[in-house]
Amino acid sequence: MDLSSLLTSFIPSSTSVCLLFGFFGYLGIAGSVLPGKLVPGANLADGTRLHYRCNGLLSLLLLVGLLVIGAWMDFVSLTAISDRGLELLSTTFIFSVIVTMILYVAGSKSNDRSASLKPHITGNIIDDLWFGIQLNPNFLGVDLKFFFVRAGMMGWLLINLSVLAKSIQDANLSQSMILYQLFCVIYIMDYFFYEEYMTSTWDIIAERLGFMLVFGDLVWIPFTFSIQGWWLLSNKVELSTAAIVANCCVFVIGYLVFRGANKQKHDFKKNPKALIWGQPPKVIGGKLLVSGYWGIARHCNYLGDLLLALSFSLPCGFSSPVPYFYPIYLLILLIWRERRDEARCAEKYKDIWAEYRQAVPWRILPYVY
Ligand code: NDP
Repeated sequence: MDLSSLLTSFIPSSTSVCLLFGFFGYLGIAGSVLPGKLVPGANLADGTRLHYRCNGLLSLLLLVGLLVIGAWMDFVSLTAISDRGLELLSTTFIFSVIVTMILYVAGSKSNDRSASLKPHITGNIIDDLWFGIQLNPNFLGVDLKFFFVRAGMMGWLLINLSVLAKSIQDANLSQSMILYQLFCVIYIMDYFFYEEYMTSTWDIIAERLGFMLVFGDLVWIPFTFSIQGWWLLSNKVELSTAAIVANCCVFVIGYLVFRGANKQKHDFKKNPKALIWGQPPKVIGGKLLVSGYWGIARHCNYLGDLLLALSFSLPCGFSSPVPYFYPIYLLILLIWRERRDEARCAEKYKDIWAEYRQAVPWRILPYVY
């Protein structure tokens, strides 16, 4: 592809705009009307709590069902996304810039004093646009932070499925593509199955909504996490049986550590006496769990996520660094995030955090880091 046709393929078409707004419209309606567990969020500074309707899995299954029926009736093209990946990327990018501006202007004008909506303006416009100025802005009653992360995770799956449809259409389906797709489907379905865990993550509790999260959720997650799939469309990889088995092992171990660690913390926060690996939990200062994965490293959940990320790239072999973009990015992100979380916890928990650090000296990977 020459440079001018490459640049042309970034120009948003009306179809891309319709696809994007159709997707958001569906998510807005499905999120509001479909049944789902109403999960209380963390206590906010003013003592209030938001409630999140966790119906992401149902919304996703219904959407995929509707698309399959639509394709069967020749009403929808399953390759609609993979045929216009670059223009969808630029359309979503422009959308996230516009949303950031709107959030900034609306937030600056807000007189609301609640913890969710009180504007935090530093005066540094770059900072305020990047990190955002309100904690939990909403649109028509929809919590935008929860909405965007859901859109990003679902968008990733939709891109992947469209790439899969394209590889079937091109008679190009490989073992590598099947492995990559299978791992991602399990990961994303699992995410929505445990969607309520998202309500206690740092992004939802502590980060304000600015370009960092809007762009991260809407553009970064779906378009960069799917690079392996796009890459496999035009690159052939032969995998030995041993490589497939090893790849599956990395995925399974990663999954067990990732899900196990996040679940242990979630269960502990809900019930500090909940058994961990069949034993009563060891706790420091009544607040910090030192049992299970949280006694092995202070962020074992990051280790699990990194192994999973690696397992998504291994089906692509080692001929190019391009499919390893996601694990490399995640390694940098999680090291940075762990440092920020560490500083936050040291400030919040003071002496008992120092005691926890002594009891569990490893940050992410025991005996290495
Ligand atoms: P964590 O789920 O690790 O939460 C950190 C918080 O947990 C701390 O701030 C503290 O909060 C509490 N905590 C820490 N240690 C303990 C302990 N020993 N006992 C009890 N509570 C403790 O952080 P994240 O929100 O960053 O990550 C959630 C998941 O999301 C991870 O699995 C991560 O890998 C994944 N993730 C994935 C990304 C991706 O791009 N794929 C990006 C970011 C995250 P408190 O003040 O409430 O006690």
